[in-house]
Amino acid sequence: MIPGSFSYHRPTSVADAIKLLADLGDEARPLAGGHSLVPMMKLRLATPGHLVDLHGIAGLKGIRRDGNQVVIGAMTTQHELLGSDEIAKSLPILQEAAALIADPQVRYRGTIGGNVANGDPGNDMPALMLTLSASYRLEGPGGARDVAASEFYQGAYFTALEPGEILTSVSIPAPASGHGHAYEKLKRKVGDYATAAAAVVLTVSGGKVASCAIGLTNLHETPLLATDAAKAVIGTSLDAASLKKAASAAEAIMSPASDARGPVEYRKHVGGIMVVRALQRAFGRAK
Ligand SMILES: Cc1cc2nc3c(=O)[nH]c(=O)nc-3n(C[C@H](O)[C@H](O)[C@H](O)COP(=O)(O)OP(=O)(O)OC[C@H]3O[C@@H](n4cnc5c(N)ncnc54)[C@H](O)[C@@H]3O)c2cc1C
Repeated sequence: MIPGSFSYHRPTSVADAIKLLADLGDEARPLAGGHSLVPMMKLRLATPGHLVDLHGIAGLKGIRRDGNQVVIGAMTTQHELLGSDEIAKSLPILQEAAALIADPQVRYRGTIGGNVANGDPGNDMPALMLTLSASYRLEGPGGARDVAASEFYQGAYFTALEPGEILTSVSIPAPASGHGHAYEKLKRKVGDYATAAAAVVLTVSGGKVASCAIGLTNLHETPLLATDAAKAVIGTSLDAASLKKAASAAEAIMSPASDARGPVEYRKHVGGIMVVRALQRAFGRAK
């Protein structure tokens, strides 16, 4: 339970952090809230020789509106998401999901940047980012680039981040006002990662689903966008047959690990149930 030895660095600008990461090479890792990285270090599953702490960089914090985009600095904590009026108004699904992450201690330290950059299939925010068509600003020795969340996740703990790059912000197009949303998460106990979870954002017109996006957490080695499941409900009033179709289409793309949270068939089955529950709750909330 004691990490290996490492050097600690605390830059005060993104440029300095990038330079440190470039100079120190493979041995260096950015440190955000530390609530995924430090447990891995204590288990010696990660043994970085250098930690580049991002807390001294003021520009990485905060939530702002830029036209139709909500821009969230990477070092914004889950607790800050929960307290934000802008998020409550534009992106309430982020608050619903953040409230289901671990416990207040973790939420005070854990950041949105760390949660989405980590690449852990169990993290809750990545599937929401796919559902909301978010993009990530990555800055590194080669400059800045924007990568769609849908292009970012390549495998468990394997992302589009290049060596020396830092994720500096997340941009999310604000969904239409009156949209319905829900994040349904089955977990073994309070504070646990998802056994299966589903995010839904939809709009309703004339009593029928007009648009819909569905994301899945911890049901594959990467977060998933359940496109066929969403198509199955568009144009319907969420009758039993279309809900069943959506659950089957979502289950067809799931390939969860068999682990302490349950065998594959169980996790796929409850994954389908999370999709149905999230669709129903989002539909009920849409105006
Ligand atoms: C008991 C417990 C329960 C938890 N339960 C859940 C849960 O149910 N759902 C959930 O989603 N999470 C859960 N977490 C994880 C928590 O949300 C973490 O805070 C989050 O996964 C990582 O964010 P962080 O800021 O702590 O990042 P860190 O732990 O500091 O970093 C995580 C990884 O991302 C990299 N990184 C961090 N920031 C950046 C950046 N800006 N750019 C590039 N790379 C970066 C780091 O180098 C590291 O590899 C839990 C944690 C604990 C301890």
